[in-house]
Amino acid sequence: IKKIGVLTSGGDSPGMNAAIRSVVRTCAYHNIECVGIYRGYQGMIEGDFKEMGPRSVNNIINKGGTILKSARSKEFMTEEGRKKAHANLVDAGVEALVVIGGDGSFTGGLVFNKEYGFPVIGIPGTIDNDIFGTTHTLGYDTALNTVVEVIDKIRDTASSHNRLFFVEVMGRDAGHIALNAGIGAGAEEILIPEEDLGLERLLESLRKSKLSGKSSSIVVIAEGDKIGKNVFELKDYVEENMPEYDVRVSVLGHMQRGGAPSCFDRVLASRLGVKAVESILDGKSNYMVGLLNDKIELTPLEQAIKGHSQIDRELLRVSDIMTT
Ligand code: ATP
Repeated sequence: IKKIGVLTSGGDSPGMNAAIRSVVRTCAYHNIECVGIYRGYQGMIEGDFKEMGPRSVNNIINKGGTILKSARSKEFMTEEGRKKAHANLVDAGVEALVVIGGDGSFTGGLVFNKEYGFPVIGIPGTIDNDIFGTTHTLGYDTALNTVVEVIDKIRDTASSHNRLFFVEVMGRDAGHIALNAGIGAGAEEILIPEEDLGLERLLESLRKSKLSGKSSSIVVIAEGDKIGKNVFELKDYVEENMPEYDVRVSVLGHMQRGGAPSCFDRVLASRLGVKAVESILDGKSNYMVGLLNDKIELTPLEQAIKGHSQIDRELLRVSDIMTT
């Protein structure tokens, strides 16, 4: 292998830049060339490439987002689109790909590999932490810290006014952010997609908390929680049933995807990038690099996509105990 291509695809996450930097510099370290592919698979189809050397990734380790830009590409879902992409890679002399993204991006990489036998290694980049084969995806730790910092601020105003705050955090299918940031920020209740707490239990818990002398509370709610109401309907429901509460809603939204990556994410990105490039040089393909038991390990892409990263059920119990 003489030349590796790197791209970021799907939703961006803090730490993607640190991973690009690591891939580029590991290539330079091993005396192979590296090509940055802009806008994910769409840029691959359009031949939007740039040769990258160790100095083209100066001063990005601390930056959120991705200098290569990210995109979702419908065209890459078609055979013709992938054919164009392959022709561009061959023209540019690119012989293997590092794909930084989520499970959709990995699926695209796998499909491409099946068709053209092109070596692909994935780096898990998403704040949701919903990928099997790694205890942490890139950006997850940063997102947790962002959410905790914001909830701390909300708590200040909540306690000044004896209010109940519903804070909606990202996580359509996975409750990792809600559960961990909820415990970290001292939430009264945490609603996640993996568990249907039920409306009655929520009311019960809020009643208990009021009786125990708490005057303000924070409830952290993942976007995809299964309670069957969106966060605003939930506010109405609770206010109808518990008029003593003045409920405010805060939807955190995209701020959770931005910001400077935490030290943890920077170190993880650096480690994953090294392993991704060195795995390609070892002749590996169709693997994802991930963090398992504090070691960087390979998981077949197929498993990473199909497997589900489970939430830690013990954390639910810890959260319950903490709200005593
Ligand atoms: P996020 O975690 O933010 O959702 P993701 O990587 O899962 O990130 P997707 O939008 O699902 O994001 O996928 C990114 C891109 O991967 C798609 O826009 C498409 O170009 C490509 N892709 C996904 N699935 C396939 C597939 N079955 N065949 C070919 N390409 C695919």
